[in-house]
Amino acid sequence: MGKVFDAVIVGGGINGSSIAFHLAKRGYKVAVLEKEKIAGKASGAAAGILGAQTELDEDGPLFRMACKSRSMYRSLIPELEDLSQVHIGYQNKGMYKVAADKDQELELRRLIESQRKAGEQAEWLPIDELINREPSVSSQLLGAMYIPNDGQVQAYELSLAFAKASRALGAEIYEYASVSELILKDEKVHGVATSQGEFLAESVIVASGAWSREVLEKSGLSLPIIPVKGECLSVIAEKPLVQGTIFSHGCYIVPKQSGRVVVGATVKANSFDEKVTLGGISSLMEKARNLIPDIANTEWERAWTGIRPQSADGQPFLGEHPVYKGLYIAAGHFRNGILLAPATGELMADILEGKTVQANPFSLSRLDKLVHT
Ligand code: FAD
Repeated sequence: MGKVFDAVIVGGGINGSSIAFHLAKRGYKVAVLEKEKIAGKASGAAAGILGAQTELDEDGPLFRMACKSRSMYRSLIPELEDLSQVHIGYQNKGMYKVAADKDQELELRRLIESQRKAGEQAEWLPIDELINREPSVSSQLLGAMYIPNDGQVQAYELSLAFAKASRALGAEIYEYASVSELILKDEKVHGVATSQGEFLAESVIVASGAWSREVLEKSGLSLPIIPVKGECLSVIAEKPLVQGTIFSHGCYIVPKQSGRVVVGATVKANSFDEKVTLGGISSLMEKARNLIPDIANTEWERAWTGIRPQSADGQPFLGEHPVYKGLYIAAGHFRNGILLAPATGELMADILEGKTVQANPFSLSRLDKLVHT
């Protein structure tokens, strides 16, 4: 007889840990099963941008969810830091989405209008104004869309904080517990088989990021999620280079604490390869120098990779399996899993409790359409 829980979560990335946190808070007996180390994959590799308005252009369900999730951080950060004793490094100094040419400026001005109509704050800063606020940025740029409410965190620390806070609320976290099989019978899930034995539960949530497709394979579901490799690097600046995050086509520069600056990220679709490449890093360095020439004088720190889970339509899958009762999926957050984690945890806990009776735009019911288009 295996260990028995109310809910078992497959994957100890930020989404698995956020779901565990929300369920544990509601009194569920939860286990998180992680194949390797907590936040060892995409969640530990992320730059930590909470870019609701920077990353998502158009108003719609995902944009709404992203803005809501971003605002949830304000109360969540102190709660998580208190429960976990992990410093998350939350900063709310805004984001500058820059324009390098006239077409990009026009596009950003259009975006500012549409986001304002959706009730969000954004303004256009001509280059003089931008340099006034951020003196290190290149004078070759034309200006930037300034987004005061897009903040940032330390992604690894935040993911760890979710896991530790869940544990403080009674959840059990198992590292190096690789799920080899879902236990499925009579169109229901009954638990999972792992390298550490069986874990039985009436609810199983697959939050395995880019590996979700593989975990779900035996349930007859071929989840349309592909792995997208991303490389990042960090440097140490003696004096602060920028206050806010600088975001451009193909490169962002994120100032962290103690002079650390993160530069990201490359994008390579259909790749589980975790090697850092010279080509990837040198392209980031070049783009970063075009944005902030002085970055050339900073000290090299390190480089790393992560694998983003990208769904076929760019929206995460958040809902119950189409066949097996009690089997849930929370995967496909692509470039925004850190931003979306609070809302993901809350929505999944609501779905498990049967609270979301209205249409859920992220449900698995859209699979048919995706497979046939
Ligand atoms: P993961 O973090 O990948 O976690 C899934 C976990 O499941 C892994 O730990 C894995 O080991 C485990 N697992 C897999 N198979 C099994 C199994 N069989 N049994 C048990 N466990 C298993 N997002 C933002 O919001 N802001 C950013 O600035 C940002 N920057 C990024 C930069 C880079 C370079 C990358 C790669 C991603 C970035 N992202 C960012 C995206 C974000 O990191 C992801 O969307 C998010 O981390 C996905 O979280 P997850 O929990 O779904 O997946």
